Amino acid sequence: MGKVYKLYCDNCGYELEATLGVGFLFPRVYKETLDEARDGKLGDRIQTFLREHPDGAIDCSLVLAQCIYCGQYETVHDLTMYLPKKKLPTKDPNQRWSIAMPFCGADYVAPWDLREYYKAFAAYPHTCKHCGGDMKLITEKTFERRRHSLKCPNCRSKLNEGLDVILWD
Ligand SMILES: [Zn+2]
Ligand SMILES: [Zn+2]
Repeated sequence: MGKVYKLYCDNCGYELEATLGVGFLFPRVYKETLDEARDGKLGDRIQTFLREHPDGAIDCSLVLAQCIYCGQYETVHDLTMYLPKKKLPTKDPNQRWSIAMPFCGADYVAPWDLREYYKAFAAYPHTCKHCGGDMKLITEKTFERRRHSLKCPNCRSKLNEGLDVILWD
């Protein structure tokens, strides 16, 4: 499940803390994110998508995004829009998210369900808080592979990894 990574720059002191994946409150995060999307707080595109596709789902896992212009990083909800590709299994109302946080009967779609039962419809257009540029997503898998070669957005030195990778679930 979710992991916290700490990366830092020896040269200029830049620090990046990235919380990736899904955590123990995921069903609640899913609902809040969909409510915001339906209310238009996340932009027209995702609001229209949910209005036109009541069976649509959103990837609400946390991923790292990087601005393709200024190189700044930000942890964001992935927000890729998905449509079912086959008939969805009926959810067992007693199915538990976890022992401590059961969320029985809650309406959420976990990332692993997206991979199994859905196909990607459109990517969410993430924009950079610093410069307004487009951001590309670095999925957790890519991050795992590339995290030793990520560059500092301020001085372009290679980032080092802190020793404390924390499991947040
Ligand atoms: Zn630096
Ligand atoms: Zn930027």
